Amino acid sequence: MDREQTFIGSGRENCPNQVACRGQKFAAGVADDGSFRAQSDSHAPAEAMPAVASSAPVEPAQDEKKSSGPATAEAARLAEQQEPPRQMLDDYQAGALATQFEDKEPEELLEWAFAKFHPRIAIVSSFQVDSMVLIDMAYQINKQVRVVTVDTGRLPQETYDLIDQICEKYGIEIEVLFPDTHHVESMVRRHGLNSFRKSVPMRLLCCHVRKVAPIQRMLRTLDAWITGLRRDQWATRANIRKVEIDHDHGGLVKLNPLADWTHEDVWDYVRHFNVPYHKLYDQGYASIGCDPCTRAIKPGEDPRAGRWWWEVNAPKECGMHCPIETGGFEHEFKAILGDADHTEGSGI
Ligand code: SF4
Repeated sequence: MDREQTFIGSGRENCPNQVACRGQKFAAGVADDGSFRAQSDSHAPAEAMPAVASSAPVEPAQDEKKSSGPATAEAARLAEQQEPPRQMLDDYQAGALATQFEDKEPEELLEWAFAKFHPRIAIVSSFQVDSMVLIDMAYQINKQVRVVTVDTGRLPQETYDLIDQICEKYGIEIEVLFPDTHHVESMVRRHGLNSFRKSVPMRLLCCHVRKVAPIQRMLRTLDAWITGLRRDQWATRANIRKVEIDHDHGGLVKLNPLADWTHEDVWDYVRHFNVPYHKLYDQGYASIGCDPCTRAIKPGEDPRAGRWWWEVNAPKECGMHCPIETGGFEHEFKAILGDADHTEGSGI
């Protein structure tokens, strides 16, 4: 891959929002669907912050929220019913596109994807270095790019710091999702605060409650999602294609523009364009997730060896990118759902 050509061809220039976003606060609110939307404060010029994407949930005022519970829920249900039909691809079309884009630069795939799916497309990121490359690339193509993440409640401080940095540098909104409070409370009551240490099924349950289920809820509102997955990250990712149909999540389109990039390609890009990155990488971390489940790796260890390092013969996956058969956590998850009100979005 001609990396220099990629960099030159990306149309990169100094971010026009770098000055405008300085001093911007990471103010936010939690929407009824559990999403959290960062907004600039009033000191930032209006043009520094892109308008909220038309399909994105609009954040109601706090007073409005308190006084309109059932009415808001009803309005949300009606709005959902009126959503335009998804732009679907079939497996044949996705396969043809994957072949077409296999030798193309990631920017070309992103450009096509934004033209076809925006605003019902988002980068779903935990702010590992791969998705930082994608955010930077996407911002050059579409200043309204949507970036979605989940605050699991167990993230390292450095992740929140990076979110602030992204907001300042690019002036984009980060749509932060949260897990269902009832599910987290129920899990903690039944199994304790550190249940993920007890067994692989307990760890997968925690990942499902805190991370997978909120993302699954969000994916139902999208036509396509973009991930930073690469083939060289882990055995389960060795065969990913740049364009896939995500049959595990309703058949929406899943794009992996960096599928054929290497670890070195990613860091070359970050250094070349001075892209912000997670500071734990400087402390020997190679893959970063929640604070209690991630550690630095030792020289020669696999890059994902620092994730859930106490587990033996278990997948280094949370379950978001590939179905995991455990025979254990699904039963527990159903048990903590409690009542029918919280079954929606379970994804099970
Ligand atoms: S990474 Fe650890 S703390 Fe985070 S959701 Fe998964 S098990 Fe829970």
